[in-house]
Amino acid sequence: MAINLFIPNFRIDECMDAIRECLEKGWTGLGFKTLEIEKAWSDYSGLPHSHFLNSNTSGLHLALHMFKTEKGWADGDEVISTPLTFVSTNHTILQSGLTPVFADVDDSLCIDPDDLLSKITPRTRAVVYVGLGGNSGRYQEVLRICRERGMVLVLDAAHMAGTRVNGRHVGWDADCTVFSFQAVKNLPTADSGMICFPDAGRDERARKLTWLGINKDTYSRSMNQGAYKWMYEVEELGFKYHGNSIMAALALVSLKYLDRDNAYRRQLATWYELHLKGDPAIGLIPMAPGCESSRHLFQVRVAQRDQVLMALNEFEIFPGVHYRDNTAYRVYRHAAGQCPNAERASDEVLSLPMHMGVTEQDVRFIAEKLKEIVHRSRG
Ligand SMILES: *Cc1c(COP(=O)(O)O)cnc(C)c1O
Repeated sequence: MAINLFIPNFRIDECMDAIRECLEKGWTGLGFKTLEIEKAWSDYSGLPHSHFLNSNTSGLHLALHMFKTEKGWADGDEVISTPLTFVSTNHTILQSGLTPVFADVDDSLCIDPDDLLSKITPRTRAVVYVGLGGNSGRYQEVLRICRERGMVLVLDAAHMAGTRVNGRHVGWDADCTVFSFQAVKNLPTADSGMICFPDAGRDERARKLTWLGINKDTYSRSMNQGAYKWMYEVEELGFKYHGNSIMAALALVSLKYLDRDNAYRRQLATWYELHLKGDPAIGLIPMAPGCESSRHLFQVRVAQRDQVLMALNEFEIFPGVHYRDNTAYRVYRHAAGQCPNAERASDEVLSLPMHMGVTEQDVRFIAEKLKEIVHRSRG
């Protein structure tokens, strides 16, 4: 049987019941379950304000748009980011009229704070930090740099649902944290996400901006008459970025199992490490001290990665690559050559199968084949 990289594990009966509730109530859109998941996520994570979105990508764009307009940043002002990420992270910087500037990664495959320092210019306004695979890397150092320099820190926590650092859920200390609940992330729906601002005022503004800038409260407060429901104010140009109740229904079910699923992912990681450690041809990614990772990914580094990947496919093992250095893409090619560690990692990283259907026996089999293959291709 094929062993795939990711397979979302939906608790189907519970999901169907939760979706049925929406259909029976005749309420599938904004409100109802979206409010429930926002409260449930804040209760779970300890992050005080949570707003449910149609994706993490929307959230990253929204966050950058909000800070840019609030703080009066100019077009072309700079945001430091990582080249080793899903393109959403960097596209949304461009979509906000800002310029992504790439900082190199360290051994954790997250931004290296020392390289970040060297990329700061008078036009640097913000940093978007990605906790790759659920690992926090040297996030605290990056946070300290941002605080010292008055730069905004946005945490792209697409892989970090359930990641804790020193016992506390990640994201509380960033200026904005954005999660992804996309189908192959570790809190699966189909497409949705969550944006969390520690600041109540920004949370309130975000809620208007994700629904085209509409503020329903203005009139309902003064009139509180059903007849005036249509009489809302549109306060600024917004987007259609809010989540819906069907996705929220799925998220509420997945959230119940998040800690249990993440614990199993950590177990898989422990087994992988047990079987792979000590092999000089297979590089393991160090976990940050104090980080209890969601373990969205288990990555290794190997030489001749593409050949290794193809050879694994012959045993019906289907790993993935997270990620190709974004400066290899035409959109970001102008920045090629500035981040040698990311460039090297881009050629070496391999994400091994990581989902609830992978067994200890699978891990042993995958590790065995991987070791055979890397030594064969070396030898
Ligand atoms: C998946 C992912 C995103 C985008 O998430 P969506 O919810 O699909 O928009 C952003 N950043 C990273 C690092 C991701 O892995």
